[in-house]
Amino acid sequence: MKLRKVTAASAAVFALALTATACGGDDGNDSGSSSSGGGEKIKIGIKYDQPGLGLKTPDGYTGFDVDVATYVAKELGYEPDQIEWIETKSADRENALARGDVKLIAATYSITDERKEKVDFAGPYLLAHQDLLVQKDADITEATDLNDKKLCSVTGSTSAQNVKNDFAPDAQLTNRGGYSECLSALQNGQVDALTTDDSILAGYAAQDAYKGKFKLAGLKLSNENYGIGVKKGDTETVNKVNEALEKMVSDGAWQKAVDDNFGPADYKNERAPKVGQIVK
Ligand code: GLU
Repeated sequence: MKLRKVTAASAAVFALALTATACGGDDGNDSGSSSSGGGEKIKIGIKYDQPGLGLKTPDGYTGFDVDVATYVAKELGYEPDQIEWIETKSADRENALARGDVKLIAATYSITDERKEKVDFAGPYLLAHQDLLVQKDADITEATDLNDKKLCSVTGSTSAQNVKNDFAPDAQLTNRGGYSECLSALQNGQVDALTTDDSILAGYAAQDAYKGKFKLAGLKLSNENYGIGVKKGDTETVNKVNEALEKMVSDGAWQKAVDDNFGPADYKNERAPKVGQIVK
């Protein structure tokens, strides 16, 4: 799997980078990461395996969520080298915030009433829609076509929940830990479709390894309002992040992040949402 190789390679590179900076005499931060100037760190949760949104590569971390989080962190007073990126898989997000493992989560994290019982959200900062990634020649044109099909999604995601509760209750649904695992299952024919947000699927479809093999079905099966997750009750941080997101849109940095990250996958995103306005 291409993505697995990337992860392994990047782990080696990062180990080297850590050794190099440790020689510089850092402030002994317990996390193992260090910044040359010392100072406080901010831990931010992202995805590691979603090209265009949150991806760990040998050269660092890339994607729209990474750019949004980097901008927000700067507004909160943290330079990029004071950010420690932590992988937060779909099913871990609420717990990671509750435990204090991370201060913020920017990981294709949809704002939902159920999640709001456990965490707070700033935003939204992107509106995506659930869709399907299928083989190029697949004949799936509407949600009801899915009821006799094998689907793959991810534990703890709205995508998996929507299939069961909403548009294909009779489909055979397999849930994995991350979407890159579903991508392998789709590639080797174990499942007929991978379902999650169109933003994520477009990033996979544009990978060199998959070009010409898969297509998005183009069904807008849900509204996914991406928010920045914050620990329940931390209203001060929510307010600061909301201000940062508004500024990011008004000064053009949001659009630049869209162009840089969604341009290569030709993902046609919705306009910038207004902070505080959820599209149901
Ligand atoms: N945005 C959806 C969610 O928060 C699906 C993508 C994901 O699992 O991160 O569940």
